[in-house]
Amino acid sequence: MEPDKKNIHDLVVVGAGPAALSAAIYTCREDIDTLLIEKGAIGGLAAVTDWVDNYPGFAKGIAGLNLSEEMRKQAERFGAKFELDEVLKISIEDGLHRLKMHGGDVYAKAVLIATGSDYRKIGVPGETEFYARGVHYCATCDGAFYRDKKLVVVGGGNSAVQEAMFLTKFASHIDMLVRGPSFRASEVLQHELNNHKDKITVHFNTTTDEIVGAEGKVTKVIGTDKTTNQKKEFITDGVFVFVGLDPNSGFLVGSGVELDEFRFIKSDIRLMTNVPGIFVAGDVRSGATMQIASASGEGATSALMIREYLNEMNREGTSSVKIEQ
Ligand SMILES: Cc1cc2nc3c(=O)[nH]c(=O)nc-3n(C[C@H](O)[C@H](O)[C@H](O)COP(=O)(O)OP(=O)(O)OC[C@H]3O[C@@H](n4cnc5c(N)ncnc54)[C@H](O)[C@@H]3O)c2cc1C
Repeated sequence: MEPDKKNIHDLVVVGAGPAALSAAIYTCREDIDTLLIEKGAIGGLAAVTDWVDNYPGFAKGIAGLNLSEEMRKQAERFGAKFELDEVLKISIEDGLHRLKMHGGDVYAKAVLIATGSDYRKIGVPGETEFYARGVHYCATCDGAFYRDKKLVVVGGGNSAVQEAMFLTKFASHIDMLVRGPSFRASEVLQHELNNHKDKITVHFNTTTDEIVGAEGKVTKVIGTDKTTNQKKEFITDGVFVFVGLDPNSGFLVGSGVELDEFRFIKSDIRLMTNVPGIFVAGDVRSGATMQIASASGEGATSALMIREYLNEMNREGTSSVKIEQ
């Protein structure tokens, strides 16, 4: 069956976070017909970030919601269209990319995947209640709010050790809660951690059971020492959880798009995946740096590469062009 011509777009962007919105600002401004499909909130994780202190151009910082609203308005000013739905599957049909959603299908000459990643949660009482108001998942983003404060870090892998060491720049003391009897982090990192003994106390075999607060602020973490079964309390001003990231790439199963060992999307230097016409930007990309500024930068880069790809397609009169490296 012929695809419904009304539903063919030059570009369909999956997601509407900073990477997607930045890409749309560029493509729409150049009259590339662009549809963004978002399953949650427009603005992505940036929209749920209380305060952003490190996005260039805002000397005093900016509320994440306001930053993402400005990005949305800017994209809309140039003609970006939004659809609130979830992309469930991508396949190729009649030389076009077909995106299956709950509400029907759309077709695209090019696709940008900008679906981000979700920080893995530990699922204990207090984690959701104090999300972004004492419970954090990104040290680069929120560490500086804890100058001379006490912190708890949860996790025992590479990122937990790296981020705990980074947080010593700010915190007066860090209690590190590791569920297992030893670290899963590399030997090199464990060795480096020894240089921070003055500020970091490691508690092995310790579960994190509850995050407790009062008047909207975190005050302590309750855990259990598994060797004695004794409850332990850690007085703290904040908690950083580093137990992994889950890229939002599940809908790509069967699409042929290549993922890395952690299910992040692989791309070439032009941010194109191994499937011609499917590009990737932001936190879901293998090698991403998980920041709003870098997601926006990748969005802009991918838009310029997509423009080149579409121009090439038009010149060649073909539907799947491989851009020369
Ligand atoms: C609490 C918190 C604080 C942070 N603070 C900062 C900070 O201070 N500074 C900073 O630079 N960074 C910060 N970050 C990180 C920053 O928010 C991310 O790096 C950035 O938002 C990534 O942008 P993105 O566009 O790649 O993805 P996201 O912002 O994650 O957007 C992806 C969007 O895609 C949507 N989506 C996913 N799958 C589908 C699908 N199948 N169909 C349709 N839509 C889909 C999601 O709903 C989401 O809206 C913070 C993150 C968190 C969680």
